Amino acid sequence: MNPPFYYQIAVDTPAHSAMGGLLSSVLTWSSPSPLSLGAVVRVPLGKRQVLGLVWAECASPHDEKSLAAIKPVAAVLDIGAPLGTAWRALIEFTATYYQRSLGEVAMAALPGQFRILVQKLQDEASQAKIAKRLHGQKAGKPGAQIAATEQGRDHSPRELTPQQQAALTQFAQETRPCLLWGATGSGKTEVYLQAARRVLDNDPLAQVLILVPEINLTPQLEARVQERLGQYACVTLHSGLTPVRRMHNWLASHRGEARIVLGTRMAVFASMPHLRLVVVDEEHDPSFKSQDGARHSARDLAVYRAQREGAPILLGSATPSLETWAACERGRYARLTMPDRMGGAALTALRLVDMRLAPKRSLLSPQLMAAMQERLAAGQQCMVFINRRGYAPILHCGACGWKSACPHCSAYRVFHKRDRSLRCHHCGWAEAVPRACPDCGNLDIAPLGRGTERVEEDLGALLPPGTRVLRIDADSTRAVGSLQQQLAQMHAGEVDVLVGTQMVTKGHDFRRIGLVAALNVDAALFSSDVRAQERLFALLLQAAGRAGRDAAASSAKSPELWVQTEMPEHPLFQALRQHDFERFATQQLTEREQAGLPPFGFHALLRSEAQSQEVAQAYLNAAKEAAADCEASDQVTIYPAVPHSMARVANVERAQMLLESASRPALQHFLTQWQPALHRIKVKGLIRWAVDVDPQSI
Ligand SMILES: [Zn+2]
Ligand SMILES: [Zn+2]
Repeated sequence: MNPPFYYQIAVDTPAHSAMGGLLSSVLTWSSPSPLSLGAVVRVPLGKRQVLGLVWAECASPHDEKSLAAIKPVAAVLDIGAPLGTAWRALIEFTATYYQRSLGEVAMAALPGQFRILVQKLQDEASQAKIAKRLHGQKAGKPGAQIAATEQGRDHSPRELTPQQQAALTQFAQETRPCLLWGATGSGKTEVYLQAARRVLDNDPLAQVLILVPEINLTPQLEARVQERLGQYACVTLHSGLTPVRRMHNWLASHRGEARIVLGTRMAVFASMPHLRLVVVDEEHDPSFKSQDGARHSARDLAVYRAQREGAPILLGSATPSLETWAACERGRYARLTMPDRMGGAALTALRLVDMRLAPKRSLLSPQLMAAMQERLAAGQQCMVFINRRGYAPILHCGACGWKSACPHCSAYRVFHKRDRSLRCHHCGWAEAVPRACPDCGNLDIAPLGRGTERVEEDLGALLPPGTRVLRIDADSTRAVGSLQQQLAQMHAGEVDVLVGTQMVTKGHDFRRIGLVAALNVDAALFSSDVRAQERLFALLLQAAGRAGRDAAASSAKSPELWVQTEMPEHPLFQALRQHDFERFATQQLTEREQAGLPPFGFHALLRSEAQSQEVAQAYLNAAKEAAADCEASDQVTIYPAVPHSMARVANVERAQMLLESASRPALQHFLTQWQPALHRIKVKGLIRWAVDVDPQSI
């Protein structure tokens, strides 16, 4: 018998990552026959059988004891070609940069269905059956959800506007990552599609990756891809797919059959052996940053991936992130500019209502209502958004001061009038609205503040009878397909006023909206969060972009964005009025440079969770003490441990500690040195901890 081969295999096992470090989750197994690097396998680990990825070949251990401890690989999952070098490099970079173990990142990047399938690999018969299941669905077969060529359909490119043509030409000549900075409605999508077409037409193997921030936007873009590039197979990857569908789409990409992969942040980990173009639409969107697991930024990884694989990358936005904007200013990225809206549509005008002058407690000012009525009379649609769902954020007793606090969180339960419930939006705790104040028995308990439901009700009362008001938020769209149906109603003109949370402001191409109103935005102006103003500016400019997309329809009166605020003199509004993102960005970047904030400084957070705030902070304090021994600690400022801004969720107390450095490499070096200590520290009652590199909000 030949001597066996030895491999290092990445597995996701918290127990083995306890010593910390990148390779802590890479362990050794043997195999009687050679295995490919990047092969997907099942290996025995303790009493369990787990999914693994062959990472590297290694030498046979010398001593008998460790040799005897090595077990053989149990089975190999036939996914066709193994996962390539480039894909593995992406995983390794992600794990290193975000301070996670290789195994955790690799297993999270593979389709979850692989875990189930490897357990079923028993004998040859089961192997054959599973191989058939994995490879049975070829492109174009029913159910494969891959667009097939449609005979006789016109997929010829659209005529571009001069600014689109200029952007496309410049993009073709650039070697740097490119920011496509285009006004809302300037036709960025057409530039993406034509850039994709160029790549796909010229190379029979080429694959294109398109990332979008919202799962809700995938059907819309998918339809356009089908319409314009229908001759090329396209698959989607997002959390709305069933695990089986996701696996098949993933495999279609891995085998190179899918030429276009369209998806949300998870799609950045798609295996694409012939990646030739990457597009990140709405690159500024916070949802590209994952809030669990490795907490990676899909946008940043897309840039890394494109550069490593030599693929051009196009980051599109009307309101770029300040990180991307600063990269353009420094010349690291190229900036392609499209200032004009398609068809000469007018830019949305800003109307500010000074709410200090409005009647007390009124939410919808008389001026706004008059303007809406005028639009409705002219046959236009209006959109109102408020970033709060439910009827009212708090239920309140005027007699004793009782408020609808959640017993499990540091938050109030929101009053939902439809089903007369009080629901916590953080932990889900819900109960029927009490008939009287639980503390004093007062029967007169009243809602405080407003959410989408109440705005919907108010509009119904204030607008002429017969006005059709539709509400779109997480509550109205719970049922499968309901969002698409509601959007279709809007597009068909069956709705006069759309009320919604910010989910309605993103990307949707409504044609008949003449007026958009933003309610209750002032909190962001006072927020201590570094990025609060950046996010508000982006939100308002995006919202403004929903209005007046159809030049012909808006020719009578230019489209308007109404903002009700108590601070109309705020500089953010002055820049917004001019649609002057550049001015806003310059002002924000100057402030951040002075304060050493991103993108001029670099942040990481150490987060901890425990039953009590004391324990959560004790862990952070111990970590801070251990930091002194780490290299590069003199280049990192560690701030005191503080409770999270939402300190308690579902009875778990959360704390965090901010780390700041003027140097990204120094911060990275320090974090790597710090890892083993973070794993070693034992604090009784600690539930979990995690490092968050480049956190979105602090
Ligand atoms: Zn009371
Ligand atoms: Zn709660």
